[in-house]
Amino acid sequence: MTNNDVRWYHEVLLVDAHNDTLSRMKEAGIDFCQRQDCTHTDLPRLMETGVNLQVLAVFAPPNPNKTVTLQKILSYVEYALQCQENDSRLFIVETKDDLMNLKSDAGKLGVILGVEGGDCLSGELWTLRFLFRLGVRLLTLTWSNRNALADGIWEAESKGGLTSFGRQVVREMEQLGMIIDVSHLAPAGFWDVSKLVNGPFIASHSNAAALCQHPRNLTDEQARCIADHGGVIGVNFCQPHLTDDKTANLDDVIDHIEHFWRVAGEDHVGLGSDYDGIDTPPEGLEDVTCLPLLIEELEKRGHSARRIEKFMGLNLLRVFATILPCSSKTAAKTVEW
Ligand SMILES: [Zn+2]
Repeated sequence: MTNNDVRWYHEVLLVDAHNDTLSRMKEAGIDFCQRQDCTHTDLPRLMETGVNLQVLAVFAPPNPNKTVTLQKILSYVEYALQCQENDSRLFIVETKDDLMNLKSDAGKLGVILGVEGGDCLSGELWTLRFLFRLGVRLLTLTWSNRNALADGIWEAESKGGLTSFGRQVVREMEQLGMIIDVSHLAPAGFWDVSKLVNGPFIASHSNAAALCQHPRNLTDEQARCIADHGGVIGVNFCQPHLTDDKTANLDDVIDHIEHFWRVAGEDHVGLGSDYDGIDTPPEGLEDVTCLPLLIEELEKRGHSARRIEKFMGLNLLRVFATILPCSSKTAAKTVEW
């Protein structure tokens, strides 16, 4: 890569809709703000790569005791707040204005706090509002299991969609200005969300079923539906979601990107790496510092700079800017049930 490429690359706004780094590091007792060699990302490598905005998804494995799940999630959110206090390079994005400052705030990594799986809500709407007050701006409605909101993909055969609580959560998220994420959700729940929500929603880390028949992947019909809502699909780097082969590489990732471009259009596809939520990243994308190679390969395949920019960040930024509240305080106050 030449110096010119590096310059061009750093001018591209780079947004990733999903990684699992924060909760993984908190559990392992290692510092997100320091360079590590046992994870796929950390604050120094995200910044060195030129990532402007990263959704840090916090995840706690399903537990029949939802208090335990909530405690875990709160401990991860508290850790994120600690990181922000202790390291001025990180700032938690809560409002539209925060997003707009991303480009001018060079030398900082914007972070959107996401919760992966609504289990921690414990069937109570106040927990959602409380998480919002703490700065959480994205909720992946389910992980792969069933929770009080809906069925995850493991329960797809039972054809269960959103519960009445799940519908309340979705409506409340719309009012608060939270990003609704349908990755991991079983198809019935997906279609319920699409009927209930007027504006955009996202699948933060989901690939194309047309290329790889993994149950986590989206059909072309689902991809078009996300596009019709103005949303974005984040292409992930998880090997079993990319190919049936034993190993995956950079080309497999690009195949999924190009497929979604054909089916959903170039305004509706983004990056959802799932770094630190996957075991083995594709060859060529071993950690976050490899992202420039993805840009290079997309260029080699003849895609325009504009299309690549949209994929690398502009599309997700557009959706986040549409959804996030103008002010974190007023949004939380105006909600009534
Ligand atoms: Zn996931």
